[in-house]
Amino acid sequence: MKAQDILARHKLQPTAMRMLVLSYLQKQEKAISLSGLYDDFENADRTTLYRTLKSFEENGLVHSITDKKGTVQYALCHADCDVHEHNDAHIHFYCTSCENTYCLPKFNIPSLELPKNFQKSEVKLLVEGVCDQCQ
Ligand SMILES: [Zn+2]
Ligand SMILES: [Zn+2]
Ligand SMILES: [Zn+2]
Repeated sequence: MKAQDILARHKLQPTAMRMLVLSYLQKQEKAISLSGLYDDFENADRTTLYRTLKSFEENGLVHSITDKKGTVQYALCHADCDVHEHNDAHIHFYCTSCENTYCLPKFNIPSLELPKNFQKSEVKLLVEGVCDQCQ
């Protein structure tokens, strides 16, 4: 799907910055932090970048993962996330060697048993270990 169509599907106006950030995120193999994004868009206004990412998150285009150091990392949503709801029930992987966080959309979090009257709203699973690049 073209960047423009993806943005339209998520009810976002196709501004130049959104197009750029979207195609950038599509090329990433790992999740990216806000400061990582700033580094790669040196000449862009930080507030604009921040707002771009936030609008993506709010409209079901990216989801966030907090890594071991407490840094928020962002990855594109692959599942059926939409403007109203995220459905990213997959595993994330934190490599303790390269310190990258990977989004693994094909690997679902197994269903969980919870005590009676505990209602889950979201499940996050961050697996730690060594990634394939660092083996
Ligand atoms: Zn999502
Ligand atoms: Zn690694
Ligand atoms: Zn993910």
